[in-house]
Amino acid sequence: MWKSKFYIATEKDILEGRASDVYFSRSEGIVKTSPEERVVVEITLSSSDSWVTFTGLDEVLNLMEGKPIDLWAIPEGSIIPSRDNLGRPIPFLVMEGKYSDLMVYETAILGMLCQSTGISTESTRVFLECYPREFFSFGIRRMHPAISPMIDRAAYIGGASGVSGILGAEAIGLSPVGTMPHSIAILLGEERAWKFIDDNFPKGSRTLLIDTFGDEKIKAIEAADMFPDIDYIRLDTHSTRRGNFPAIVREIRWELDLRGHKDIKIMVSGGIKKEQIRDLKDAGADSFGIGTSIASGKTQDFAMDIVQVGEMPISKKGKYSGRKDVLKCQDCGTVLIVPFGESHDCHGIPMESILVKFINDGVIKERISTNKARDRCISTAMHMLEGSH
Ligand SMILES: [Zn+2]
Repeated sequence: MWKSKFYIATEKDILEGRASDVYFSRSEGIVKTSPEERVVVEITLSSSDSWVTFTGLDEVLNLMEGKPIDLWAIPEGSIIPSRDNLGRPIPFLVMEGKYSDLMVYETAILGMLCQSTGISTESTRVFLECYPREFFSFGIRRMHPAISPMIDRAAYIGGASGVSGILGAEAIGLSPVGTMPHSIAILLGEERAWKFIDDNFPKGSRTLLIDTFGDEKIKAIEAADMFPDIDYIRLDTHSTRRGNFPAIVREIRWELDLRGHKDIKIMVSGGIKKEQIRDLKDAGADSFGIGTSIASGKTQDFAMDIVQVGEMPISKKGKYSGRKDVLKCQDCGTVLIVPFGESHDCHGIPMESILVKFINDGVIKERISTNKARDRCISTAMHMLEGSH
């Protein structure tokens, strides 16, 4: 009988391998009778996106800590192609151990990686559109609250400058970012609401939402004249009123500049898709609140497969057998998979392995902070931006 108030798995359920497809636990008994139980499994991407921002690993490390297994992976925040330069699937994560210690966690491990990587990948795509402007993750209200910290963390690593969620911000170690809800304008009246924000919010984040009732331009001028020291005016214009959103932004920028409010920035939010960002940026939007499009970032189809039993390379059809290493040329970025232990040169320079050993016999040896993961992502994204110009 289901006893919880919410339809969510508890931390205990996940750690005990109960948030899992039943066919694994039903096969556990027979697996233990096989003559060789020691296997190498690897996790590769079935989906064909050209690259992903890999996240979700930190949760996997916590899940697999204490199990008698070894785990290697590409570090979180890496922007990695799904295939190597010769079109072969890249192992993002490799584990070695007894299959009975791995199988019951396959479902949970994949879920952690697939969803988080989907969100961080979409966040990086938004970053590439927004740059050099900032964007913030405002999307947790569109997803189940139980996973809000994961969503905000993945969005942040992928490139968001901040997150709106209290728990997400706590998980990252930041202060949450908030502007002003329409509801306080409805309850207090716009002017009193604006005054409240101006009096109480810290400098740098005083943002007045100006389009609860009136026309965007008229209200933007009114708010800026009344509270000239605010940092942002925010447009959250309802979709039914958006004839041409970039044109509204462009007009407001003109009117604010004309009245000496050049320092007041314009933030836009409300169902913004990444395809719309460039036009809004060109029109003068300084900052973006992005919700659903990042929070619902398409899940990435990672799959876990046995590639070696004992010392013997073996895999199902469609998968590459044998333990592998992932090598990268630090100069040109070429990525190659090779049989484990083999080295390779790229234009005369030895390529380096990007698989890091994170768990040794159940002990976590390495952990990468959320901020380090984000730095890694941003640095690669900046190279991508330079390459596209
Ligand atoms: Zn190279």
